[in-house]
Amino acid sequence: MTLSGSILRDSHLDVELDVPRSVEEMLLPNVYVGLEIDLLSPGDGIVTDRHHASADRYEADDPMNQIEGQISPFTLSGWLRHGCEQVVQVAGATACHPGEPDADYMRAETYERDLESGYHEKGACLNEHGDGCVVYDLFGGFGDQPGKLLRRPVSFSPIRRNVDVLKGEAEAHYRQVSNQVRSRNEEDGGEPLRQADRDVLGNVEGTWKLTLRELKPEFVGLLLEAVSFLDAHSDEFEFQLGGARNFGAGIANVWVINPLYSDREVRRVFDRAKATTSAMEEKDEVWRSECRPEFVRALQARVAARDGDVPMPDGVSGGGSA
Ligand SMILES: [Zn+2]
Repeated sequence: MTLSGSILRDSHLDVELDVPRSVEEMLLPNVYVGLEIDLLSPGDGIVTDRHHASADRYEADDPMNQIEGQISPFTLSGWLRHGCEQVVQVAGATACHPGEPDADYMRAETYERDLESGYHEKGACLNEHGDGCVVYDLFGGFGDQPGKLLRRPVSFSPIRRNVDVLKGEAEAHYRQVSNQVRSRNEEDGGEPLRQADRDVLGNVEGTWKLTLRELKPEFVGLLLEAVSFLDAHSDEFEFQLGGARNFGAGIANVWVINPLYSDREVRRVFDRAKATTSAMEEKDEVWRSECRPEFVRALQARVAARDGDVPMPDGVSGGGSA
C-alpha cells in the first residue's frame, strides 16, 4: 500500500508503508490504549460526581458507594509524553524538553542538566525541520502549535455495564483514603499529628482513547513504542503513573489494542465472559509480524531524518532535508 489516496498524511519521508491491510480498515485515527492498574492515585487529577450522587450521606469507606468520574488527561499525558521522549532518546536522538525555554524554573540547574542529557530546548528543533521533532509535532508546542494528538480524560464507573471502552472509559472503584501521621513520642500515645486525604482508584480496567488529528505513520510508531516501553518499565518510579508511587500506585499494565480489531472485538477484549476468537488471534499475528514493524520503521526514518547520527532503517535512502 502506498500513501497516496489514503487518509494517511504523507510526511515526506523516503519510506513506504508496506502493510497488508488498508489504513481505512484499521481503528485509526483512534488509538486505544488498554489500561490495567491495580491502584491509581492521580493526585488532584480525579473529578467525581460525588457531590450530587450521594450528597451529605457520603461515607468514604462505604462499599456501596457508586461513584463515577473522570481521570484527568494531564497526568496521563505527561506520563505518555515521558514514554515518547524515552523512545526517541533510546533511538539515539534528543527530544523536546516539555518546559518553555524562558520559563522561570524553580531549579534552573536541573533544567540545564536535562538539556545536556537527551533533551533539546523546546522548539529548537523547528530550525532544522518545519514540523520540529516528532515529540514536538505530536504533542504541540507554543501557542500556534496545537499538537496532533487529542488526549481525552478517562471516564470511570464502578458499574461495568456503564463502561464503554470504545469511548475511552474504564471500570474503576473510587475511594477517598485518609492517612495519619502520628507522633513518635511515647508519651503522646500515637496521637495524630496530621491527617491527609487522598483520592484513589482501585482495579482500573478499560481504555484511554487517543485520536490523531493528523495521521502520520511515525506518530503511530511512536505511540506503539512508547506504550510498550511504559509497560516494560511499569514498576520503575520514573515511569509509574500518578502519585503514591512508593506505595505501589500507578503500576500500569498497558498495551495498544490491535488497530485491526473491529469495534466488537475491542469490546470483547474487556468482556470477561468471552474469550479471544480465532479471527482476533489471526489479526494479532498479522499486526505483530506485518503491520507494527512498518509503523516503527516510519518512526525510525523520521528520527533519522532530523538527526544525522541515527542510522536510517533498511531500505530507506539517506537523510536528506526532511
Ligand atoms: Zn523538539
